[in-house]
Amino acid sequence: MTSYSQETIRDLMAGTLPWPQTRRIMSAYKDEDRFWKALAVLQDRVAWADPILLPISEHLFIAQTAGGRVTKCECGHEFGDYRQNWKLAAAVLVRDNDALLREIYPTSDLPDPEWMELREFLCPSCGVIHEVEACAPGYPVLHEFQPDLEGFYADWLGRPLPAEG
Ligand code: ZN
Repeated sequence: MTSYSQETIRDLMAGTLPWPQTRRIMSAYKDEDRFWKALAVLQDRVAWADPILLPISEHLFIAQTAGGRVTKCECGHEFGDYRQNWKLAAAVLVRDNDALLREIYPTSDLPDPEWMELREFLCPSCGVIHEVEACAPGYPVLHEFQPDLEGFYADWLGRPLPAEG
């Protein structure tokens, strides 16, 4: 079974690995400790000590804190219980007119703001963009990531989720 060093995983996550190598690692999905190495890299990167349970996106994690399992920004900002939609606790920039869309599409054709808007969900503390949704105006805010943490740990990782508290 192939195993990759923490440095390689770090490069992979930073997007600095050449594509063929990236693809090889991605296809070595059975690498059991890949997840733990990735987690160790992320834990290294954040300034706080709460254990990261699961990365949600590049700068957003589910972490085990004294106040329970919360969605937490790399900067330390907490969005509340991980089962709740963190986007509702985020700062939102809605790009729903030509001027605001032009900032994203400086040289290409603009989407018609009658039909599509971009919603940027930002951390209210550090301002990093955690997610961007492109959707029809008025479309409800999505919460596509509702992980079954217990199941993921037990079935996929073969380890129980660290106890809460
Ligand atoms: Zn932040």
